[in-house]
Amino acid sequence: MPAVPFEYHAPATLDEAIALLARHGEQARPLAGGQSLVPLLTLRLARPEVLVDLNEIEELRAVRRDGDGVIVGAMVRHRALERGAGALAACPLLQEAAPLIGNVRVRSLGTLGGSLAHADPAAELPAVARALDATLMLKGPGGDRAVPASEFFVGALTTALRPGELIVGVRFPVLGPGSGHAVIEFTRRGGDFAIIAAVAVVEVEPAGLIARARVALAGAGATPVRLSHTEATLAGASPEASVLRRAAEEAAGEVHPEGDAHASAAYRRHLARVLTARALEQAARVALQSRTA
Ligand code: FAD
Repeated sequence: MPAVPFEYHAPATLDEAIALLARHGEQARPLAGGQSLVPLLTLRLARPEVLVDLNEIEELRAVRRDGDGVIVGAMVRHRALERGAGALAACPLLQEAAPLIGNVRVRSLGTLGGSLAHADPAAELPAVARALDATLMLKGPGGDRAVPASEFFVGALTTALRPGELIVGVRFPVLGPGSGHAVIEFTRRGGDFAIIAAVAVVEVEPAGLIARARVALAGAGATPVRLSHTEATLAGASPEASVLRRAAEEAAGEVHPEGDAHASAAYRRHLARVLTARALEQAARVALQSRTA
């Protein structure tokens, strides 16, 4: 089925894009890689009258170091995250997560900003943003604002973006020495959306105990979920496998997934526990290796 006819604009600057979105109000939608929006258009589940294509806007493709962080432009493709060249090398968790998204065709077009704005509950990059305590940099008719990932994801396919606002970039903190991370997911077939994905970041202090552990899950609720009880249990603990597995037992109680055609709620809870344990073990192993390297 063809999409409902729409007016198409491809502005060359961010200011033009913001002005177009403001002029056309709720009738307008930004277009990034089109990997989620175009199927919605052809199924007529989305019927915008105006599309504002962001692909010509160079400033949205920039990646730069910003103190102890890296700012990644919204139009940086999943494939570039996967390659991790230049300043992206400082954020290896993105390199680990991006290859898990769809297939190479999807990753060659899909963008960081598109994935976060679309906010699919099973998507990997929103969970990475939550696990790393990333900050989303937004720009709209009301000016610029920075929104922590913890406040950005409001519900399934729902974010804190205001009308006419764009994600311009995302600031990811760079992990220091003694840090390790892992992304472990379960899918029915390679390239499918995850049933559950677990993203873990473990920081080990020089004495060998866990200074801080962070875990975010995709597929376990309407938004990416941080496992605050599991994280609190691990602060100051030994990074031994048995300790990590015991902490991961709490994961199942911290999530409230709904069952669907892909997996029951009980199975998702089971995966939350098992994948959290595996992600924590892998992240802790890397963190300890980096301490002793
Ligand atoms: P688009 O489709 O262009 O836009 C998506 C939404 O975001 C639209 O509402 C658009 O208006 C809005 N938007 C886009 N950019 C911005 C911006 N800068 N500011 C504000 N709003 C914006 N994703 C996964 O995470 N994991 C998977 O395993 C996975 N598998 C896939 C398999 C297939 C076959 C396909 C087709 C897609 C899959 N995806 C998967 C989705 C993919 O990651 C998309 O790239 C992503 O969801 C949307 O990014 P996009 O750049 O294509 O955005």
